[in-house]
Amino acid sequence: MKRISKKWQKVIDEFAPMRMEWLSHHPRCWRCGARAVCIHEFVRGSDRHHAFRSPACWYAACPICNGGVLNVTSGEYLRMQLAEKLVNDPDNFDLQEIIRIRGWGPNALTLKEVVEYVVVQF
Ligand SMILES: [Zn+2]
Repeated sequence: MKRISKKWQKVIDEFAPMRMEWLSHHPRCWRCGARAVCIHEFVRGSDRHHAFRSPACWYAACPICNGGVLNVTSGEYLRMQLAEKLVNDPDNFDLQEIIRIRGWGPNALTLKEVVEYVVVQF
């Protein structure tokens, strides 16, 4: 079993209830429609602990998508995931928050670039 640091464990313990509450409002995987049991974050690596706490970075996922297709969070894959965020969780959509957590410049990604990936269903 992979060991996690005490600092990480504290963050997990503190935010788990809020994350579970959020997930209860998003019962289906935004990518494939299977039962969502995990939260994928748009930010990984050393900044992931910020993403873990920020609803702007959360994406409802099933274990298969979370372990596979959603792991690429760069370029058009990120824009696609953000478009799904915008459609499924508009109240928590915050592009500037994601840009800030990723440490990018303020114009690194625009709403227009995200909206181009929104799939409209009639
Ligand atoms: Zn899925």
